[in-house]
Amino acid sequence: MQANEIADRARALMPGVIEDLEKLVAIPSIAFPGYPSEPMEQMGATTLQMFRDVGFTNAELMEVPSGYPPIYAEIEGPEGSPVVVLYAHYDVQPAPPEQGWTSDPWTATHKDDGRIYGRGAADDISGLVSHLGTLRVFDGKPPCTVKLILEGMEETESNLEAFVEAHPELFACDLFVICDMGNLRVGEPALTTALRGDVACVVTVRTLEHPLHSGVFGGPAPDAMMALARLLSTLHDDEGNVAIDGVSETVWDGADLTEDDLRSSADVLEGVELTGSGPVGGRLWARPSVNAIGVDMTNIATSSNVLIPEARAKISMRIVPGSEPEAELDALVAHLETHAPWGAKVEVQRTKAAPPFLCKTDGPGYAAARDALAEAFGRPAGEAGCGGSIPLLRTLETAAPGAEFVLWGPEDVAAARIHASDESVDPSEIEKMIVAQALLLQRLAEGAGSGSG
Ligand SMILES: [Zn+2]
Repeated sequence: MQANEIADRARALMPGVIEDLEKLVAIPSIAFPGYPSEPMEQMGATTLQMFRDVGFTNAELMEVPSGYPPIYAEIEGPEGSPVVVLYAHYDVQPAPPEQGWTSDPWTATHKDDGRIYGRGAADDISGLVSHLGTLRVFDGKPPCTVKLILEGMEETESNLEAFVEAHPELFACDLFVICDMGNLRVGEPALTTALRGDVACVVTVRTLEHPLHSGVFGGPAPDAMMALARLLSTLHDDEGNVAIDGVSETVWDGADLTEDDLRSSADVLEGVELTGSGPVGGRLWARPSVNAIGVDMTNIATSSNVLIPEARAKISMRIVPGSEPEAELDALVAHLETHAPWGAKVEVQRTKAAPPFLCKTDGPGYAAARDALAEAFGRPAGEAGCGGSIPLLRTLETAAPGAEFVLWGPEDVAAARIHASDESVDPSEIEKMIVAQALLLQRLAEGAGSGSG
């Protein structure tokens, strides 16, 4: 199929694609504990039927020991054609009213800016409908062998890694296409090539055997909360760069975000400065970040004039692509153990060490994807990072050694606001991603057919 024919077909398919997106946004498919299971079951069944209808006739909800099931299917391509796994997920983040939604999160709402608002509209229902559209371009008969894996618990305690480990043969392939990412800005194509990893620990600081009267003892007797605050403040320099000896940094030379992009997508309060120095892309994807994500101490309601003897904080550190999580966590723990003021007692408990991921960018699959993306958008494709972590990628890499990865999708970083209020997607990004995915399958098939692939 010619490129212009693919583009024409994608355009003609868009009304149906948007209808599917609207149907799926309306189902509050939250897999988190404490939420009802009916919407997840409805989402699983609806998604399953949609994918059966576009050609994955053997799609099934797979059996898993616990949690919501992934959906798996295969369409056999022409003999000897490359094998591609398409990934997306059908669960979404919660959307509590206190997040500040300006339209109902469970009603796909078309606004004047041309975007469609709703929880999951971008993350990752846009990925689901991109795959549906891609299959429809080929009338359900793609030029490659296509395997489909749709996860049901991506946003919570994923059960997919265990499923992949139990059934590696299902994931044997030449290329994984992870459609759960986005360009930095609408219309500016980018492949995600680097993802930070994530380590965490809980630090406990003790200064006193028990609480003390703050009037009688305050002054010479140190309280644990002030000691903890001083300890935490040593994790950054004055500009907000991570200041921990032995933590890895790299250099970012892909596409970049401006400070304004970041401010608007993160809703940083007016007058509050961005932390760290250097290009924003580097700060997000090539440098570590460290944050306190939880604190235990006396709460205000029960506070009195008492010195606090013990305080705890959970520290999360994002680590750079190419680094080893255990070594990075060692550096963080060593820093915490040696920087408390006043001889305060410090105990550190390790809670997480998830690896980063770096895409191989010198293989034929990646080259075909870069060309397909550039052609779909009519301009060269850049490389972007992703600050988040996807441990699943390492598991897939182990299940299919040598397979390449393409990470992309319609969730533009500047405006999609995934996981936040007023999440949205730009339908033009979905259309172009359908074109890019269809072109990718076409190119891979041609490459294999001409003997060059
Ligand atoms: Zn997602």
